Formats: sequence, structure tokens, C-alpha cells
Amino acid sequence: MPLCVDAWRAAGRIPMKIAGYEVKVIIRANARRMLLRCRATEGLVTITVPRGTTEKQIRDMVLRHLPWIAENMGATAQWQPAFAAGERHWCLGRLVTLGKDAPVGEAAYMAWRNRQLSAVIRRLLGVWIPRLQIPAGWLRRVTLRQMSSRWGSCCAAKGTLNFSTKLGVYSEELIALTVVHELCHYFHQNHSSAFWALMKRCMPDWEAKKKRRESLDVRPLPPA
Ligand SMILES: [Zn+2]
Repeated sequence: MPLCVDAWRAAGRIPMKIAGYEVKVIIRANARRMLLRCRATEGLVTITVPRGTTEKQIRDMVLRHLPWIAENMGATAQWQPAFAAGERHWCLGRLVTLGKDAPVGEAAYMAWRNRQLSAVIRRLLGVWIPRLQIPAGWLRRVTLRQMSSRWGSCCAAKGTLNFSTKLGVYSEELIALTVVHELCHYFHQNHSSAFWALMKRCMPDWEAKKKRRESLDVRPLPPA
């Protein structure tokens, strides 16, 4: 009897390697049929399958579509966003279409997204500063900037907060992760166990949120 995916997922046999491609299998109880997708920049093919699909069925499906996969992996790998009309970019956790929901052109788009990010950060600070019982008036300046390796920074002595413009792709819930983190630095200017204990008290699921942020694919997409 052929092994079905549910069983071999438990046996740790996902992802599979088929014809040189890494194939990630996603099992969906409500999937009606198999659905192939290519994620070129990661060199990954994903296939969504209904429960009960066999390994052979997946292999056959992938092998049948090899020319299509090869074309997609090549074509999307070369694609770079130009911030042109029709491209889809992430803003506050949603995909927006340039020229329809958002302005065209990198400078205009980034300014637009940063304005929305600023508004979300302001709103979150308005909630979390009183919640953390940080004295009103402590905060003197909030700055958005391009930061290469960090999501934010806090100078407790000066009352300043900096946030990375990269946060603009994420939902408010995930932006809150960084806002709360930086506000916790008001009390602890380090990442000591006391800092993490405070973070946990403020946001018990912060680690799950961080994992979710790391797992999200927020790269822009070419016009549909
Ligand atoms: Zn920190």
C-alpha cells in the first residue's frame, strides 16, 4: 500500500527532492486538488495537496510539470521590483497594487508606506507607554530610518526611539513586537534576563510573533 503524505510527514520525509528541485509539501485538509507553486529566489517548489495524497502522486505531478517549473524558476529569479504600476508590494501586512492602491515609483511608494507605518507606531506608542507606566513626556522624538541590521533602537536617557522603515511591510500586530521591545529598553538598557522577563509579561506570545515575522515572505511580486 502506498504511503500517504500524512504518514510520511510524521516520518520527517518532507521536503522531498525531485528532479533536483527541493519540493516542500503542504497538506491541506480542504484542498481539492494538488497545486504547484515556484519560489524562485529560494529555489523552492511548493505543492499543496489534499490529505491522503501518495508520494508517487506528488512525484508524478512534479515530473509532469518540469518544463513549467524550469521556466518559472528562471523567470522569477531574474525579476527585480521597479516599483512600476501593477507590481504588488507588502504594506502593513497586506499586498497592495502599485498604481491602484499605492503610488508608483520607489520614492513615492516608500514615502507613502512610511507615512502609514508612522501612524501605526504612533498609535501603538499611545497604547503601550501608559500600559508600561512610562512617564508621559519621556518620549521626545520618534524617527523612522533605514536600518540595516536592527528593527529599532531606544535611548532611554534622551527619550528617543528609532524604528526601521522595513517594519512597514508587516501587520500592526508584528510592528507591536518591535514597539514593545524598544519600550522595554526604557527599563533595561540591555538584553538581560530581567529585560526578557518584562517582555514576556507585556507580550506573552512575543516569541511566536517573532517566528511568524521570520517565516513571512514579504518580497514584492511582479504584476499579476
Ligand atoms: Zn533590544
